[in-house]
Amino acid sequence: MTTFLGMPAPRGVGHLRGDEPFPAAAHKALANDQLRRNLRHATTTIREKSGKVIAELPDWQELRAAGSAIKTDTMARLPELLEQLESGVVAAGGVVHWAADANEANQIVTDLVAATGSPRVIKIKSMATQEIGLNEALEAAGIQPVETDLAELIVQLGNDQPSHILVPAIHRNRTEIRDIFLREMPGVDPGLTDDPAVLAAAARRYLRETFLSTTVAVSGANFGIAETGTLAVVESEGNGRMCLTLPDTLITVMGIEKVLPTWRDLEVFLQLLPRASTGERMNPYTSMWTGVTPGDGPQNFHLVLLDNGRTNVLADEVGRSALHCIRCSACLNVCPVYERTGGHAYGSVYPGPIGAVLSPQLTGVEDNASLPYASSLCGACFDACPVRIDIPEILVHLRNQAPHPRTERAAMRAASYTMDHPRLYEAAQHAAKLARLGGPFVKGWTAARDLPAPPPESFRDWWAKR
Ligand code: SF4
Repeated sequence: MTTFLGMPAPRGVGHLRGDEPFPAAAHKALANDQLRRNLRHATTTIREKSGKVIAELPDWQELRAAGSAIKTDTMARLPELLEQLESGVVAAGGVVHWAADANEANQIVTDLVAATGSPRVIKIKSMATQEIGLNEALEAAGIQPVETDLAELIVQLGNDQPSHILVPAIHRNRTEIRDIFLREMPGVDPGLTDDPAVLAAAARRYLRETFLSTTVAVSGANFGIAETGTLAVVESEGNGRMCLTLPDTLITVMGIEKVLPTWRDLEVFLQLLPRASTGERMNPYTSMWTGVTPGDGPQNFHLVLLDNGRTNVLADEVGRSALHCIRCSACLNVCPVYERTGGHAYGSVYPGPIGAVLSPQLTGVEDNASLPYASSLCGACFDACPVRIDIPEILVHLRNQAPHPRTERAAMRAASYTMDHPRLYEAAQHAAKLARLGGPFVKGWTAARDLPAPPPESFRDWWAKR
């Protein structure tokens, strides 16, 4: 088999491309008052909680700088670190598979599950498996995937798509969740109320039975340690630990950018991630495993290393820092655009500011050309990012790569020519027509803004008088 690196994520599989451009999807989302209320409440709450625990650390900025430096170093020697990780996993009894894209990854996982004979898998919340559309691939092969993270379960039962990296059902309120459970959850109490504790207990009852009767689990990974071959998953509910310890077979799908050089590096990220994401001082559950331990936990372990456009991102000197992302979702929670439109408008499993720079790079900018414009460039995402990804810089970089309409290119060429020729520029100003002449070319711009009227006197005229 030949593996091609540096290719965009393939079309027709996975969840990186929406059905319509961002402006059209956002327009619909903005009409949904309930969605906006839910989003405002949730993002404000997380923001406040996170701000308090970050303020407790006097060295937060140094930690951010350390996180950024470790990621930069990792990306600079990614091939050697991945091979080191592979050696560590294999030495500890695991099997490593390399997947160039979503199709290959889905095939590998589906074949592995089919070989066990299990009709069902339990899943830990994982952005990588959502990105490649693994659930759909498993279902097509007659295998039932069951999401065990509460919010992911709500999304799955509601036949819905996640709208936030960390809180996938952020667009749902508790009444909607009760209705979904009543409609879709096997064996649920028909008298179910919308009390959060009652809803959580119903999910727990359903999931416990599923945990105890399923022999294969699929997870993602927050980090992979090259030095030791160790994988790490951090989570809040404990469902992940059940998946990582109870089944006979564990299959982990990890994006290649999740590798870290050493065990010691993990210390930095275990401080940055919980404070920036859930506003906790540490993750309630941090699970780590290295290959297979005889008599303890899954006895078959497979690691699938996923490219799916990542080496394409790595090849771009400006855009590659998007691969530093640790999926904390802090940039979503501070983004004025995300807070109003929600995640579905981005058309990708990666919404918000990070989605606006990561999705177009994974797919090729042509396939997500409107996303780099889904930002006011206010810079709040950069300030919030625990690994200091300069998202506004990448947004501008990608806007330059995105295809521009012919009228816009013609207007820019005309403006450039005019400004290069002082007499022509002066004449244009005198005619006070420059702005108005531009009117037809900037229809999109003027749909939501006023085109400023030309001043009564230009600077040149004012200067000439003196
Ligand atoms: S870009 Fe930064 S703030 Fe946004 S999800 Fe990634 S790590 Fe978090």
